[in-house]
Amino acid sequence: MSPGSSPARFLEKRSSRRRLTLLYDDMLERMPERGVKWRSLGCLFLAGGLLALLSLAFPLSPDAWIPGVVVLGGSAVAAGLAMLAAGPRIPDRLMSPSLAFGTVLVTLGVVTNRDSTSVYALFYVWVGFEAYFFLPRRHAVGHIALIAVAYAWALAAAGGPADDQEARWLLTMGTVVTAGLLAGALNDRAERLIERLADAARTDPLTELLNRRGFEERLQIELARAQRSGLPVSVIVGDIDHFKLVNDRHGHRAGDDTLKAFARIALQAKRLADDMGRIGGEEFALVLPDTDEHGALLLAERIRRVTRDVQSITVSFGVATFPKHERTPDGLLHKADQALYLAKQLGRDRSVIYSDEVASLEHPEERRPVEQTAAVLVLAETLDLRDSGTALHSTTVGRYCEQIASRLELGEERTERIRLAGLLHDLGKIGVADEILRKPGALNDHEWNEMRKHPELGARILTSANLHDLAGWVLAHHERPDGRGYPRGLSDEEITLEARILSVADAYEAMTSDRPYRKALPQDVALEELRKGADTQFDAQVVDAFLAVLGASALVDV
Ligand code: GH3
Ligand code: MG
Ligand code: MG
Repeated sequence: MSPGSSPARFLEKRSSRRRLTLLYDDMLERMPERGVKWRSLGCLFLAGGLLALLSLAFPLSPDAWIPGVVVLGGSAVAAGLAMLAAGPRIPDRLMSPSLAFGTVLVTLGVVTNRDSTSVYALFYVWVGFEAYFFLPRRHAVGHIALIAVAYAWALAAAGGPADDQEARWLLTMGTVVTAGLLAGALNDRAERLIERLADAARTDPLTELLNRRGFEERLQIELARAQRSGLPVSVIVGDIDHFKLVNDRHGHRAGDDTLKAFARIALQAKRLADDMGRIGGEEFALVLPDTDEHGALLLAERIRRVTRDVQSITVSFGVATFPKHERTPDGLLHKADQALYLAKQLGRDRSVIYSDEVASLEHPEERRPVEQTAAVLVLAETLDLRDSGTALHSTTVGRYCEQIASRLELGEERTERIRLAGLLHDLGKIGVADEILRKPGALNDHEWNEMRKHPELGARILTSANLHDLAGWVLAHHERPDGRGYPRGLSDEEITLEARILSVADAYEAMTSDRPYRKALPQDVALEELRKGADTQFDAQVVDAFLAVLGASALVDV
């Protein structure tokens, strides 16, 4: 990837490669396998019929019934032409009856010739050959048995010199069986060769990993399995950083060695059930069954660290997960590519999990400075790793904040900032011990003191991530208009509108979800609490807007 390229171009380059693979698969699908069978059988019938007709130009046995030979030869020619014309449209199950028809024609040929030494018996060898080549072994043996019986009957019916009939039968049948076995052996070899070719078509010769096509097929299988089991599947896409420099400085061969070394490192780090492919020049992908995005991130990070230590090169990774981020193989790879793009933008040598923030980078008009997006992402991921319950709470608070802000018509830009603040408002809880966060009963004074520190810690982290506006709002999200909030006891207009929005969204989400110490309150009870707290605990204007968003009746009855 070239670092300066636009996200759209970066992603387009990748998906066009994917389209090519699909096109090639389509071509393979259409390979006229069935057509080959019928074309070869058609040619045999045609050649047999023409040879039989041609044989009329030479002296036959004096008793030969010429019109019979003409009819039989003509039938074979007609059947051959029909097979050539209809080809792949003829169903496979007609193959065996067609060969039996061939046996009947040959047998009648021998009989109409009225000569047990008839050369037409040679055509049995063709039937046997075709049967062994194209039919299952069991059916082919059946055809040989049919020929054996039919030829014995023909010899008896043909009349003519009878002295050596048994020897003739034995030699002809011996030839039929030998030719058949030869055809069978040839066919087995061809099938093994095709299997080897098919494997080769899915393997990258340099690293012996799956190639792009093999990887996509594997991904498809894993996703189908996950649909049934309901378990997550993650995809990691990795791209070696500045790989062009490796080639430029040390030569292409050293570049190839680096690719092989990276493949070995990743193979050793992954689990047995995971599969890995080289999906581009210096691009690799892993599919991890039964793994969520956090498990995938851990593996990506492990591979990244070992590669850096052992190979002195760095790699960037993107992670996306089924079904959370996307449900289709293509979609999942695309989202992992988007996350990888962000990892490159952030300076490489890192792993990024896909999220909505990542997606927004693809639309330049919605883009905010990449460092800020990065900061938000890393912080939100940290929150998520600590406790996915908190992450869910934060996402919901973010959504409520967004709804309130747009109801208050604060403008797109400001609304988006408030949503991010909602996403990150509890960041400071990173500093609060698990025993306190998850305590099922009431908190004692010491524990309350600890808990009350979280707005300040959150604000400090946000400040160091250069998110100064968010820091101010998060600091004040537990302040109250009546001045009884914390940490500073601000009142009314001293509290920014954004902080007042956070407070309402946070309180409502907290009331309507289960907590370690109590069950969720019903929606109407929670709304009543908001109404009661308007002007004391909450900003009345904000409560009003939120009630309107939720479709509840406004504050008039307070
Ligand atoms: P970035 O960090 O943005 O990914 O930079 P980059 O240099 O790795 O990316 P770029 O796409 O600009 O260059 C990829 C290079 O990978 C260019 C090509 O010469 C090299 N490459 C691709 N396939 C092979 C290969 O099979 N063997 C070797 N030795 N080099 C390869
Ligand atoms: Mg690349
Ligand atoms: Mg690269």
